Amino acid sequence: MSIKKFSTEATPPIEFGSDAATATARLTTNAAALTADNVAELAAICDTTTDAATRAEHGRDWWPLSLAWSLKNEVPQLPGVVCRPTSTDEVSRLLAYCNQHGIAVTASGGRSGVCGAAIPLRAGVSLDMTRMQGLESVDEISGIVETLAGTFGPDLEDAVRTYGLTIGHYPQSFALATVGGWVACRGAGQYSTRYGKIEDMVHALEAVLADGTIIRTGGAPAGAVGPDLSQLLLGSEGTLAVITRVWLRAHPLPEVERRGAYVFASLTDGFEACRRLIRAGATPAVLRLYDGAESKRSHGGDGTNATLLVLDEGNEQLVDATMAIVHDTCMSMGATVGDSDLVEKWTHHRNDTSGLQALTRKGYVVDTMEVAANWADLDNVVENIESAMLAVPHARSSTCHLSHSYIEGACVYFTFAATPPAEEFESTYLAMWDAGQRAALASGANLSHHHGIGYSRGQYMEEALGSAMTVLRTVKKALDPNSILNPGKLGL
Ligand SMILES: Cc1cc2nc3c(=O)[nH]c(=O)nc-3n(C[C@H](O)[C@H](O)[C@H](O)COP(=O)(O)OP(=O)(O)OC[C@H]3O[C@@H](n4cnc5c(N)ncnc54)[C@H](O)[C@@H]3O)c2cc1C
Repeated sequence: MSIKKFSTEATPPIEFGSDAATATARLTTNAAALTADNVAELAAICDTTTDAATRAEHGRDWWPLSLAWSLKNEVPQLPGVVCRPTSTDEVSRLLAYCNQHGIAVTASGGRSGVCGAAIPLRAGVSLDMTRMQGLESVDEISGIVETLAGTFGPDLEDAVRTYGLTIGHYPQSFALATVGGWVACRGAGQYSTRYGKIEDMVHALEAVLADGTIIRTGGAPAGAVGPDLSQLLLGSEGTLAVITRVWLRAHPLPEVERRGAYVFASLTDGFEACRRLIRAGATPAVLRLYDGAESKRSHGGDGTNATLLVLDEGNEQLVDATMAIVHDTCMSMGATVGDSDLVEKWTHHRNDTSGLQALTRKGYVVDTMEVAANWADLDNVVENIESAMLAVPHARSSTCHLSHSYIEGACVYFTFAATPPAEEFESTYLAMWDAGQRAALASGANLSHHHGIGYSRGQYMEEALGSAMTVLRTVKKALDPNSILNPGKLGL
């Protein structure tokens, strides 16, 4: 299988202000330099480069602040080297060496994270996993596929489909992100209401610990063999282990697909319809409810009506029953049937983020923030987050859609913008985030539904986890006593 970085449909990351090879580090993060001996020893283990442009690319991800810095030819931090292993054995030998010499190792996949998780804060090694690509085996009877961690979404799905199977995991960054990154960040795809989040899809993992020990977790449909160690690594963002191989649960390719759109008088009515239909047991793959402003922007409307887009796929009888429950529930909530083209249009532009990038180039503050909350709290969460963000000086907008639903609640996804003077760009960006995250936590939402914590959200971890943060610290200390694995992330 060839190494594929970005599919043609994916928006590429924002360009550097000038030659990437001259990019400088923006953050002062206690970065330790590598010696010539270190570089030579690493090069003896796997492909290793000190090329300046490659190091600059690995010094940033899609964290919007770092994309804005790129325009000034700055990256958050520059790794000393970029290492590209091709096997679990190379990862194991590399980690054992770095552990012995106290060298920081930050795993990276597609570097599509939006919270700075793959930034090599303490320099050292950027461990680029994208040479470990490909589908390794398929158990067609059980529906389990084994893939290397650096495989990109389209490559995996294309390969799996030749067996009449689908993973059903389609994040907006499908073409930009790797399986290892999905697992490390507890990602969610746009079809998650039918197929689940990535943590529901993982059957087993192979991972390498900081000292080079290779472990396997999971491997059965369910278990009671102590705490679930796969779940410990899911969401660990490269701080507890490097994931090298993933076994995923696959589904038969869908027989049919059905679509529908509904318009509600308010977002609150739409939330209630989603709550009722989900609690009735209908789980359409896509269930996305846009507030008035987002509906107007993308689907037309008067700025107050909320638009619900629904798509389901799978077994014909199940899908038809699901869509019937959706329809009846929406009608009972006073909705009108929306334009049948709306879902079609969404499927075409759903992964296009070029509009947000154009605003970044113009100097706008623009970003997104996603949190999950229980149905009982959802209205309050949205109101509090939006009013907190809009109270920040220079804020222009804060809009929201419901993107993923569960039996007890949902993920709400905010897009916010501000137009500060250039000298207040960064302080305005940080203030809007701070206002939004603190309002989320104060209203009963969590810190993140699927983008993860990375660097930018680390400061809120203590407040989000409370005394349970001690558990995370203790696990980190036990598994990575020299703190070489992605130091400075997850609030650790
Ligand atoms: C336009 C856009 C849209 C997005 N939409 C979605 C979405 O719909 N759903 C969603 O969930 N996310 C979304 N994201 C966020 C991002 O794509 C995900 O977090 C993704 O899972 C990251 O994968 P990656 O391979 O790019 O990882 P990276 O960004 O390279 O790394 C992210 C973190 O994972 C760790 N990591 C990566 N690989 C490994 C490994 N093999 N072992 C251990 N740790 C590892 C890194 O150290 C880092 O901490 C979006 C991002 C962008 C830019």
